[in-house]
Amino acid sequence: MILVFRQGCTREEVAYAEEKLKAIGMVPHTLCGVERTVIAAIGDERKTSAEELSIIPGVENVLPILAPYKLASREMQPTPSVFHIGGSDSPCGGTSNRVEFGGKTIPFIAGPCAVEGRSQVLEVAQAVKEAGATALRAGAFKPRTSPYQFQGLAEEGLEYLAEARDATGLPIVTEVLTPADVPLVAKYTDVLQVGTRNMQNFLLLRACGAIRTPVLLKRGMSATLEEYLLAAEYILAGGNPRVMLCERGIRTFETYVRNTFALAMVPALKEKSHLPVLADPSHGTGVRKFVPPMTKASIACGADGILIEVHPDPEKALTDGAQTISVKDFAKLIKESRAVAEAVGRTV
Ligand code: PEP
Ligand code: MN
Repeated sequence: MILVFRQGCTREEVAYAEEKLKAIGMVPHTLCGVERTVIAAIGDERKTSAEELSIIPGVENVLPILAPYKLASREMQPTPSVFHIGGSDSPCGGTSNRVEFGGKTIPFIAGPCAVEGRSQVLEVAQAVKEAGATALRAGAFKPRTSPYQFQGLAEEGLEYLAEARDATGLPIVTEVLTPADVPLVAKYTDVLQVGTRNMQNFLLLRACGAIRTPVLLKRGMSATLEEYLLAAEYILAGGNPRVMLCERGIRTFETYVRNTFALAMVPALKEKSHLPVLADPSHGTGVRKFVPPMTKASIACGADGILIEVHPDPEKALTDGAQTISVKDFAKLIKESRAVAEAVGRTV
């Protein structure tokens, strides 16, 4: 249930309501908006009633949250979430530029699929930065289909990423595969990526909810919108509010492309949720030549950020080379994307 406070309510009234909710076994999630303060009361609603909650001092209205995902829903928060990653307050303690998500500007998180070595990641970080990227992506822990494929450099890779951040100021986005690795990866990264194969790894989601590092949660390759938002709900319910969604394509009968890039999910998620919705045209298509047009399509349909694979020498990439674009093509794409962004009232 959502408790909507009257305008101009006091801190004491909000604190009292929070205590009252805890006392009846509900978990309060408070949101201080520009105009209104609301508390989402999450828990077994049989323990209370709208009548009981509506007489709490300062409460003007009590509304049910009909969606199964509560904190992720637009019912809970009608306006889009805007938050930053990186910056001097990044939980990893690194110093990177502060990058806003959910606002007018569309950040580009660019970099190779995997950290392959120190010079590769330092070179690509500098290059994507010069081309206009606002954050650096690369996996140190790679979820590979075959156990015989390159699995990533693990902590050594995280060290190179941190060095690349220090050199360029770009915040880092990198994947975490297991709950046990969350503290280690969070020590280095500005954003934890939870990949498509782990979207319903509920223990991992809970571990990501228990810390304050922002999370980029990719859509499971066979997840429905509701399953996806419920996965995000696990992280939010843990008390970590900075969750970004990312459409990365789903598995269908079509094999001409690696995945079917379900771009309608971008406006659909934005309708149902206040969380920023990113798009990943690299995994979404799996085909290098389709990445630029689908990046622009993502911007046109409202994506709040782009996750894209860029490599100094895509032909030699150890992972996902076929969908990876060169630095030169990335620089060209950024320029072209600016015009599309402008057409939809955004900036790149
Ligand atoms: C990646 O971003 O390199 C990745 C493994 O993505 P996904 O989980 O979407 O396959
Ligand atoms: Mn990849």
